Amino acid sequence: MGSKTLHDFLVKNLEELKAQGVYRKLPVVTGPTGPKCIINGKEVINLSSNNYLGFANDPRLIEAAIKATEKYGAGAGAVRTIVGTLDIHEELEEKLAKFKKTEGVIVFQSGFNCNMGTVSALMTKEDAILSDELNHASIIDGCRLSGAKILRYKHNDMDDLRKTLKEAYESGQYKKFMIVTDGVFSMDGDIARLPEIVEIAEEFDAFVYVDDAHASGVLGKNGSGSVSHFGLYGRVDVQVGTLSKAIGVVGGYVAGSKELIDWLKHRGRPFLFSTAMTPGAAAAALKAIEILSESSELVDRLWDNAKYFKEKLSALGFDLGKSETPITPVIIGDEAKAMQFSDELFKEGLFAQGIAYPTVPRGKARVRNIVTAAHTKDMLDEAVAIYEKVGKRMGII
Ligand code: PMP
Repeated sequence: MGSKTLHDFLVKNLEELKAQGVYRKLPVVTGPTGPKCIINGKEVINLSSNNYLGFANDPRLIEAAIKATEKYGAGAGAVRTIVGTLDIHEELEEKLAKFKKTEGVIVFQSGFNCNMGTVSALMTKEDAILSDELNHASIIDGCRLSGAKILRYKHNDMDDLRKTLKEAYESGQYKKFMIVTDGVFSMDGDIARLPEIVEIAEEFDAFVYVDDAHASGVLGKNGSGSVSHFGLYGRVDVQVGTLSKAIGVVGGYVAGSKELIDWLKHRGRPFLFSTAMTPGAAAAALKAIEILSESSELVDRLWDNAKYFKEKLSALGFDLGKSETPITPVIIGDEAKAMQFSDELFKEGLFAQGIAYPTVPRGKARVRNIVTAAHTKDMLDEAVAIYEKVGKRMGII
């Protein structure tokens, strides 16, 4: 029967989730997660995946994954430090380093692992971390794991960052300072104020860590990230990227100096203690980076689609918040209304996820859309028509 104490704990907490209205069943996708997909048996326009460039369903990546799987097998068989480093892992790291214009890159099995493993390998309990209050959970977990003092600053608020860092610096209590921020914030689609962050860091001898999960393949030259977008080469010490969003596969990476990469190969715990990414995933990601390095066509299409969709939703009177990227929130405010709005969109043939407290602040509930390069203008027109119909029916516009 197992432990009664554990059982009681689980039942009590699950009941609490149900009482708060946040208990959820997972939507199940049958087939590819493309611009249209079948969710819970219904075909809908998909505005909720991170597959920004359509790479997850790109025949060139699929072919690369199949060939590598045939050549190397289904799995890497070991952690990178034992016998799991394949030549394609190293080739991927070399191509990424060229793409990012850094001395080196180290690949992890996921973006989450990357942040957890990297922050905890760089910071100690003698240090202080300045962290944007809206940073991703994997950064927060990495910060906690490091044992460093965590000083949260108000979202993208440069006065608050400077004031907090100055106080910490002048206290003389800490050895190193790190400023960490998402490059693009996933719930609002706004961009970190990296040029100012870099200047503040330089003033107080801090170093800068940017998590480009939602900027990889989206911002900068050929989608190479926020450092390229702002022209800050050489001034951001740690750049994290994912291979699981715009790159369409799975995995994460850190780009930076050769010493940084070397250190993470010795102290990045998920790199040392978790099996290497599969050969198929490494080969598919490598193909995506090759395609991106050669052409900005997909990135251009992504931005063109995003602009098109956002202009049409704005013209209808929807509130798109602070979005500056293809992440397009439609702010509803009331929690229950946002969830109902998302349900009604689904009934009409559109999947756009409702997001409420605690993921976003109370009273800021929303439906979040992610436009991709793979959507056709017809699909986006259809999506806008559904928004108009449901928005009017529910009195939102
Ligand atoms: N950082 C940010 C900002 C993210 O949005 C995410 C994904 N939700 C991650 C890291 C984790 O990336 P992955 O899905 O590759 O683990």
